[in-house]
Amino acid sequence: MYSYSGKCLVVDLTTQSTRLEELPESLLSSYVGGVGLGTRLLLEKSTPGAEPLSPDNPVVFVSSGLAGTMVPTASKHAVVTKSPLTGLVGDSLSSSHWSLALKRAGYDALIITGMASSWVSLFIDDDIVHFRKADHLLGKGSSQTEEAIRRETGDNRVRVASIGPGGERLVRYACISNDSNRQAGRTGTGAVMGSKRLKAIAIRGTKPISVWDLDGLQKVCADLYAKAQTSATEKYRMLGTPANVLVLNRLSALPTRNFQQASFEGAEGISGEHLAECYLAKVTACASCPIACEHLYRVQDGPYAGLEMMLDYETLFALGPLCGISSVPAILKAAELCDFYGIDTISTGGCIAWAMECFEKGLLTTNDTRGLRLSFGNHDALVEMVERIGKRDGVGDLLAEGTRRASAQLKGGSEHWAIHSKGLELPGYDPRSMKTQALGFAVGLRGGCHNRSPSYEVDMSPGVDRLKAEPGRGLLNKEKEDFAAVLDSLILCKFIRRCFEDFFLEASRLYTLATGINMSPADLRQVGERVNNLKKAFNIREGWTHADDWLPPRMFKDPIPSGEAKGAVLSEAELRMMIDDYYKARGWTAEGLIPPGKLKELKMDDVIELLNG
Ligand code: SF4
Repeated sequence: MYSYSGKCLVVDLTTQSTRLEELPESLLSSYVGGVGLGTRLLLEKSTPGAEPLSPDNPVVFVSSGLAGTMVPTASKHAVVTKSPLTGLVGDSLSSSHWSLALKRAGYDALIITGMASSWVSLFIDDDIVHFRKADHLLGKGSSQTEEAIRRETGDNRVRVASIGPGGERLVRYACISNDSNRQAGRTGTGAVMGSKRLKAIAIRGTKPISVWDLDGLQKVCADLYAKAQTSATEKYRMLGTPANVLVLNRLSALPTRNFQQASFEGAEGISGEHLAECYLAKVTACASCPIACEHLYRVQDGPYAGLEMMLDYETLFALGPLCGISSVPAILKAAELCDFYGIDTISTGGCIAWAMECFEKGLLTTNDTRGLRLSFGNHDALVEMVERIGKRDGVGDLLAEGTRRASAQLKGGSEHWAIHSKGLELPGYDPRSMKTQALGFAVGLRGGCHNRSPSYEVDMSPGVDRLKAEPGRGLLNKEKEDFAAVLDSLILCKFIRRCFEDFFLEASRLYTLATGINMSPADLRQVGERVNNLKKAFNIREGWTHADDWLPPRMFKDPIPSGEAKGAVLSEAELRMMIDDYYKARGWTAEGLIPPGKLKELKMDDVIELLNG
């Protein structure tokens, strides 16, 4: 086998034992790696109906056939588990040196099961796995944990993935951080790791990775490296994703004050252009990435002088306009605290914005907040609330549950402005002014997500009326989801996608050159559909119902009040029409279920067997 090791390391924390399992080539080629292989292993290893924060819910780390090769942007891994936020499949990607270490240690996948009796960390030293006490690491953020573990192992090459204090306290949207500043951010994978009392996974991987056709791979990759310096990636290299701020603001798609507005009067001041001019310290990249989209900003003066922090569009929108905040230093400080506590910035911003609206409408008072005026625009309150969520302190304990649970507890009509789909807080695209994205958020298999259902690209395409819901959007959303599933399984960064002229032709060739496994463009295309049906099958097994594919009441009742899309709103009838259209495009039943025969058609006999017990 080339590139792949064909090995999965299974670690049982309850018994502090490990075993190796074979991953046959047929399984690897069917699900490829990343999110696809991770979901397949989750389906096999988890107990149906398991509580997400119980020992019966495994957390799966998966590499890919391209990781560790010279393929640009492929140094990534996926984390897959049952999400404590949604109760459905939770999958999240991270990147850089830890991803490479996992592969170089000789594993295509790492499955953590059970629950330790006291806090532990793992040290995977190629073939040897050490269980170490971790009480002394509690309370540390990812950077400090990494430093401490490197000191203990005496080796700076050791790579560490860890949870912060938020994961220790089971904040339902806690993330898993690696290489200090990379995160598997969404769906609460860090809370699952925390529930297992696993603080960190350190890896020293020293094995070589061989590819099937080195010369052939070099040629194709040289071309990709060259294209990665062209206009195909210019936006990411020049301004990073904060370049989206002004574009989305102009389109009335920049969620502001908890989606009460869709454009922000302070957009200029937090734009990628302004950040580059006034705050940029340097540009960095994940391992093996020639694009380098990561922009590090420095605060020059004021209470946060000296603070350096990276910001992407999603963090910027969630801790900025969504909370009515225009202070860049405060946004950077809040982002730094999210990193320290190890909590997802989108969900954190979504929860604080929900609470700010509750405060302004009188459902939360200064009695609940210990005197904190939790109003939109109060940047000191934003920073303080991130701390309280990370510590589960006072009202922060309520917000640590996510907007769906928090609003169900607080009631008083606050469900109206709990902006989530299936429990996952929505990212920074207003669905009322992007109707294909509205469909994507509603049917998203991990909840409302622009990365798994990137249909904002449809809405922004020439010739598409983004304010209109039309038949045909179901198929367009399906195609976007399947394409994303291929990228997330290969795993390639989405920011390199425009460097391919014929993606399926070129990517299938890359895969074959690296692994030696024959993969045609049509095969690779089918992988995307297979992975999304697999995720759907998992969700159905875990209790998904038709009613889960929906959006919060605000999207139907509160038109966008100003800007280019003034008056835009969704109607229940148009969302229902698009959902029906989407189920049809997927070949699912009118209730959104997978009919008998569909899994067979996608050559998923292994999944049929697993589902039939
Ligand atoms: S483009 Fe950005 S996110 Fe993607 S691999 Fe490169 S640095 Fe990482």
